[in-house]
Amino acid sequence: MESSIINFNFEDAQNVLKAELKPERYLHSIGVMETATELAKRFGADEHKAKIAGLLHDCAKNIDPVRSYGICELLGIELDDVAKQSYKLVHQYLGAELAKMRYGIDDEEILSAIRVHTTAKEDMSLLDKIIYLADFIEPNRDKEPFDGFDKLREICENDIDEAMLFALDISIKSIVERKMLLHMDTVLARNWFLSKKISKTLEK
Ligand code: FE
Ligand code: FE
Repeated sequence: MESSIINFNFEDAQNVLKAELKPERYLHSIGVMETATELAKRFGADEHKAKIAGLLHDCAKNIDPVRSYGICELLGIELDDVAKQSYKLVHQYLGAELAKMRYGIDDEEILSAIRVHTTAKEDMSLLDKIIYLADFIEPNRDKEPFDGFDKLREICENDIDEAMLFALDISIKSIVERKMLLHMDTVLARNWFLSKKISKTLEK
């Protein structure tokens, strides 16, 4: 295991996050850290990596839009047209970069999970899926429940790909309802999971 994560100091990282995030966002991060660790245990992923990725996934969330775009430009983070117009997406790309620079994470699996936690993408790794789902079902979400919340938690008990499909459907519907831009990676992710399911049914 890479040294950056063996020596990862949770207490230090939590103190930095506590200072940088709004209180409810900090609480959410702790919730995602705990839920991701549980999911990793359930589905056989690296629990230590899940814990770090869960804690850090929103580390760039409370940087204001103008600064976020400015830092991306400064760091040479290339944003596509949708991300340039959808501020809510920027924190996944910037978050992965900050995890590397400020929190010393050089583990590509962790960085990837942070980098795709909002849009998702095709062919996600187990850790990518765990962070995406933990972000949805962590306990503090109870305060702002969404349609299908309990059902999603239930599916997460045993079928992670089915849970991804269910969560992506919820997410896409809500993006459309709120008249926001839909990122192509989200469409590709949904088709990927659905097409995998269809092929499985056809095999039977
Ligand atoms: Fe996020
Ligand atoms: Fe989050």
